[in-house]
Amino acid sequence: MSEQRLREAIDTLKNSGVRITPQRHAVLEYLLNTMVHPTADDIYKALEGKFPNMSVATVYNNLRVLREIGLVRELTYGDSSSRFDCNTTEHYHIICDECGKIVDFHYPTLDEVESLAEQVTGFEVSHHRMEIYGKCEDCQQLETQKH
Ligand SMILES: [Zn+2]
Ligand SMILES: [Zn+2]
Repeated sequence: MSEQRLREAIDTLKNSGVRITPQRHAVLEYLLNTMVHPTADDIYKALEGKFPNMSVATVYNNLRVLREIGLVRELTYGDSSSRFDCNTTEHYHIICDECGKIVDFHYPTLDEVESLAEQVTGFEVSHHRMEIYGKCEDCQQLETQKH
């Protein structure tokens, strides 16, 4: 499954004329294999053993390239670090208030909200974001263990 996604992603890279460096390949592979929506720092920490000469700036630079060709989405949350998401199909996020974990879930795209917003405000809508917040299963378990 993820092998195939990696191959498709590599093809997209090749077709867009982007050079595939070993580090770029590793960043992409890491993102495809993780479900946790990591920050650039997380990715750096995960890969620094493999690429001792790589800097956080290199990770950022690679993420920017991957974002520009549409392989990666950047999720910004106010002042906290951006998270990166390799799942570029339409999906929504639920976020844990306690540990900050972000989990994907699918729900029919809320097109009606977009067209209603356009009608009411006269905006030309480009996209929307919806986030649900709560406490993840791990954090719920930690809580019960404490009592
Ligand atoms: Zn949690
Ligand atoms: Zn996601």
